[in-house]
Amino acid sequence: MNIHEYQAKEVFARFGIPISPGQVATTPDEARAHAERIGFPVVVKAQVHSGGRGKAGGVKLAHGPQEAYDKARDILALHVKGLPVRQVLVTGAVDIASETYVGILLDRASKRPLIMVSAAGGVDIEETAKTSPEKIVRCAVDPRTGLLPYQARALMQRVQPDAALAARMAQLVEKLYRVWWECDASLCEINPLVVTQAGEVIALDAKMSLDDNALDRHPELEAYRDDRDESAGSVLAREKGLSYVKLDGDIGCIINGAGLAMATLDLVKHYGGEPANFLDIGGSSNPEKMVTALTVITGDANVRAILVNIFGGITRCDDVARGLLQALDRMTIAAPIVIRLTGTNETEARAILAERGLSATTAMDEAVRAVVARAKGVTA
Ligand code: GDP
Ligand code: MN
Repeated sequence: MNIHEYQAKEVFARFGIPISPGQVATTPDEARAHAERIGFPVVVKAQVHSGGRGKAGGVKLAHGPQEAYDKARDILALHVKGLPVRQVLVTGAVDIASETYVGILLDRASKRPLIMVSAAGGVDIEETAKTSPEKIVRCAVDPRTGLLPYQARALMQRVQPDAALAARMAQLVEKLYRVWWECDASLCEINPLVVTQAGEVIALDAKMSLDDNALDRHPELEAYRDDRDESAGSVLAREKGLSYVKLDGDIGCIINGAGLAMATLDLVKHYGGEPANFLDIGGSSNPEKMVTALTVITGDANVRAILVNIFGGITRCDDVARGLLQALDRMTIAAPIVIRLTGTNETEARAILAERGLSATTAMDEAVRAVVARAKGVTA
């Protein structure tokens, strides 16, 4: 789950990371009132779940009340990377002396938290990683000890030659590591971390992604959820406890188990198809899950054919078949459905499906080839 900059800054502030004071507004009038309270100049910033707001015109300086009103009005009318701006953060502007990039994420290769810093702060870090990777300095942290003060100092000295400043930046990075660790974040990023003309070290921007699987430990972070830009399908899937990842293709995939789901996506690709999603109905037997799964999938307008791939173990094939029929009773599904069922109670399942004129194969290869053909408009 991603949270907004202003929310991440609230979290950062709780851990003692310096930020400049700010308030959120949903109208230009409100933005002007906040700006007058904060004092000029202010920066008005689009609050959307996306980076690159500056480049998209979503971050603007304002020197007086009228300008704060105008900038807020303009930004609230914007879309940033397709996302409508519903709120802006009004925050005190600072004079920047230097901008540094700091990011903490989980590095799956080394199985450790990884801190990345760069003196090329303020700009798109993905771009820096591509064009001049040597400008990014990395530090893997041993999760048993956490980030040690000397490591943080050594790291920051590589991007900040002034040792006293580097030490103060290092203290901030230690706090950011605590945020990352204690909040179960998958990403904490400050871009830019600035040194102001007055010599202050502050987080000018803040980005946080949280590990969805740990959110039940953090009700205060769960409360930051803003799902207004999420599709109805993914909201429904989350509420019903199904793993759903939307992809770009046109073949809807309903599968039990993440391993089988990944193998299925690979096979769809292998036969020249493009999966529309990754949808895992999990390992329990519950016809209702099939109904939800089909509701989620048919809500995606790109889906041209549907593959149901079930390897019955704890999941019973007859329950899946019943769920499928229940779903067909309740909704009209225009896309062709290809079914592969094998394992527990597969004979019963096939009998249930046959009553309604549906058939199922036991061979995954055959099912995938069939669904790829159907998505391309080839009728069976
Ligand atoms: P992003 O584009 O979504 O990453 O949004 P940022 O919060 O990083 O803002 C983009 C850029 O706006 C920063 O890199 C700064 O150069 C500039 N900016 C943001 N706040 C201030 C400020 O208080 N003072 C000045 N001078 N520039 C700012
Ligand atoms: Mn930024």
